[in-house]
Amino acid sequence: MKMKINGRTKVCGVIGKPIAHTMSPVIHNTLACELQVNLAYLPFLVEENIASAIEGAYHLGMLGLNVTVPYKSDVIGSLSEIDELAEKIGAVNTLVRQDTGYKGYNTDLPGLYRAMESDGVHIAGEEMIVLGAGGAARAVAFMCAAYGVKKLYLLNRNVEKARLVAKEVNDKSEREFVIPMALEEYPQLPNKKMIAIQATSVGLSPNVEDVVIADSAFYDKIHTGYDLIYKPTNTKFMELVKANGGVAYHGLKMLLYQGIIAFELWNETIVPEDLVNMVYQKMKEEMGINE
Ligand code: NAP
Repeated sequence: MKMKINGRTKVCGVIGKPIAHTMSPVIHNTLACELQVNLAYLPFLVEENIASAIEGAYHLGMLGLNVTVPYKSDVIGSLSEIDELAEKIGAVNTLVRQDTGYKGYNTDLPGLYRAMESDGVHIAGEEMIVLGAGGAARAVAFMCAAYGVKKLYLLNRNVEKARLVAKEVNDKSEREFVIPMALEEYPQLPNKKMIAIQATSVGLSPNVEDVVIADSAFYDKIHTGYDLIYKPTNTKFMELVKANGGVAYHGLKMLLYQGIIAFELWNETIVPEDLVNMVYQKMKEEMGINE
């Protein structure tokens, strides 16, 4: 199906620095074509002055924007309204046009949640492990709070950072469910199989042989492992989970669903699951992924 641009075409885009690697135009232009929505989606490199860029986008009548590194926090000062989860996380990746400005959302985390649900992994009421305490791990911890995880063991190299994240998430969610630990304390984890999310940057291409914890005893405590990394699509962490009898997933579906949710917010629609799968195939083709 071909895209037809005319005087009524709504415009959305993604802003960031760098931006040339983005997969978002593939996601949104495919959805617009397939659903016959008169919408075009473009990448914008914003070198500096994010506030002026947002103001300009609003006055140009743009329907919405995605925001990526390094502007997910900086953009908050330019919003007229912010969604509750995005406010707690302190990071916004989707702007939706309102009468007086843009409302900010975080679709990364509901994206991860929907990716997990689509894989048949349900986190409500579970005890879980998260590796890392950086931006992604912190957001994952807030997701776990929002979706009813019972207990979360947050392991990080810098244990002080893990403590800070745990305190913030526990305080904001008004329950003491995040337990901070140093990486080397993993033998103290309970002796049972859990879901684990790998949210550090260890193992990212080109350092594909790296892994945060190499001891197979750790992987005996994991029945399902999610790596947020999607380059490569089979990380060392995933290999170790599988070698110990678990099921492992990479982070590409999270990227897919953050886009699906943004499209749904802009167009007040629900994207059918067969179309979600078709977009996923297109992303994989674009990235040269065969699996
Ligand atoms: P970040 O804020 O820089 O945090 C990096 C984390 O990795 C910290 O916990 C850091 O521990 C840990 N780390 C780095 N080097 C380490 C090492 N040698 N040994 C042990 N721990 C180490 O990064 P981020 O934004 O959270 O991103 C983390 C990962 O998530 C990235 O790989 C990114 O690609 C991925 N991600 C994926 C998606 C998606 O859509 N799939 C979305 C967001 C992020 P210390 O605190 O001890 O330094």
